[in-house]
Amino acid sequence: MYKQIEGNIYTIPVPLPGNPLKCLNSYVILDERRSLVIDTGFRMPECREALTAGLAELGVDMRRADIFLTHLHSDHSGLASELASPGSKIYITREDGRRIDEILASADNPRVDEYRSFGFSEEEMAHIDDAPSLKYQQKEPVPFTYVAGGDALCYGGRRLLVIETPGHTPGHACLYDKANQIMFLGDHVLFNITPNITTWPGFSDPLGHYVHSLMDISIFAVRLPLPAHREVTGTMAERIGTIIEHHGTRIREMLDILDANPGMTPYDLSGRMRWRVHGRSDSWADFPLTQKWFAVGETAAHLEYLLCRGRVRREFDGAVWRYFAD
Ligand SMILES: [Zn+2]
Repeated sequence: MYKQIEGNIYTIPVPLPGNPLKCLNSYVILDERRSLVIDTGFRMPECREALTAGLAELGVDMRRADIFLTHLHSDHSGLASELASPGSKIYITREDGRRIDEILASADNPRVDEYRSFGFSEEEMAHIDDAPSLKYQQKEPVPFTYVAGGDALCYGGRRLLVIETPGHTPGHACLYDKANQIMFLGDHVLFNITPNITTWPGFSDPLGHYVHSLMDISIFAVRLPLPAHREVTGTMAERIGTIIEHHGTRIREMLDILDANPGMTPYDLSGRMRWRVHGRSDSWADFPLTQKWFAVGETAAHLEYLLCRGRVRREFDGAVWRYFAD
């Protein structure tokens, strides 16, 4: 199944079973000579079937198509290696491409110690490898074609400017068709869900980077924003304002909780915050563990934002990090 967006731009909905994001919008810029597929889906049968069926209906021959990955997450990159033909380029930024290679090369989950230090119990830690980010990642490394901010890709008569937008991942990138004021947003701006911002080894202050990257795209005129999940509601400028406001509110909520409860871990603090996972308010007790990794990572990213600006301090008690409002 596919849907025409405008001219030679199409979208193929790729279901993400069991994931609150529900579906990935894979975009195709169709060209008789060489097409471009933007983002692919998890490496799982439901995604593979939907994407290959959509591409077949559109008449895309992968021997004459390349792939652009907005970022490393497996719901975007998982199918890239098996979808690509030997002649296909797989574009991604060096930062995110390198991290995919590292994930595939290491037998152990590199985040185990970090998540343990956030305050997860040993019982929960036993399930860390069930996270879809690892399970549905591509199987083996493939040669990537690295892109950087300012590069331009030309497909289907469109000139697509690469804009680096670090934050949601360290090497996230958007594509901008200036002539038509269209932006392929990946997960940088989503409209009825807020993109997850989490901590990363070797990438400090992800929330600070993210807010900066929101400012970076707001200087471009965008008539047609194309997010990788869900649909568009309102304008991109309005949405950027709402997302920044949302993070400000979360930060103030955290400071209030920390003021009243000094020494909390990111896990404790997450348990006191208000969350919406399935479009309704969820209590921490009902939270599925698969979502707790995201939620606690998000809290840790907000704490890092405050830490970088001297608004909180933290102490390691030998097992976990404890935070204090300063
Ligand atoms: Zn993502």
